[in-house]
Amino acid sequence: MYQISKSTTRSWRKNNKFGKYPVSINTICPECGERGTFSIAPIANLTDQKESHLQGVSMRGKCPTCDFKARFIQVGEEDKPNYKLFIHPTPKLVRQPIHGVIENSEIFSGRVKKAYLEAIDAYNAKQWIPAAIMCGRALEGITLSLLPEDKRKGKFAKQLSELPNHIDINKTLSDLTNGIRKGRNIAAHFDESLDIDETVSAMLLDLLDSIIEYLFVLPENIESLDKKLQSEDIKSTDEK
Ligand SMILES: [Zn+2]
Repeated sequence: MYQISKSTTRSWRKNNKFGKYPVSINTICPECGERGTFSIAPIANLTDQKESHLQGVSMRGKCPTCDFKARFIQVGEEDKPNYKLFIHPTPKLVRQPIHGVIENSEIFSGRVKKAYLEAIDAYNAKQWIPAAIMCGRALEGITLSLLPEDKRKGKFAKQLSELPNHIDINKTLSDLTNGIRKGRNIAAHFDESLDIDETVSAMLLDLLDSIIEYLFVLPENIESLDKKLQSEDIKSTDEK
């Protein structure tokens, strides 16, 4: 199940049985990955169910490209702030923002966050070039945000060369080893005083994810990206 924006709805209908619901939704097909306008038909009113406090409608829609029938679920009312729209199954091509980074990181704020989210949106819409452009903008923004005010002017290549002078790689690594130590301690002493609940275990998993990403995935990704860029014979635009 994947949440889609209300703005994907192209037209609405309203009746007594279902209230207001979408009749056409423009989104990415879970099956073929193409973007298209699905014609929607309501199937069931979820509000009829006993435990449900929110108004909801279960719907089905057909992909115009491959005829795949996807499930759509609307929760809440269209003109209320709690309104949500979902598609099921989750489209394979859909890429979601890195878990937790958006909420927690100071780097990911303002324009950088906007560029990052727009890059993901563009990617999900198969707009590869805008996606790449927004990635570039996010990278520039991240670089700027790590530099002191007086080093933020001039060419990007120059800003980039300043970067190692202003971020403490060693601190990142020592934070990481601290994290490993703490995480391992929590896991080793779970039967004593510490209560391991969903939050703690999710935090441990996130920590593990970060460590794996940082130590194994990141170097590998950079290496394979480097190889790809070389084989594509992309002209250097570094010195703009
Ligand atoms: Zn399709």
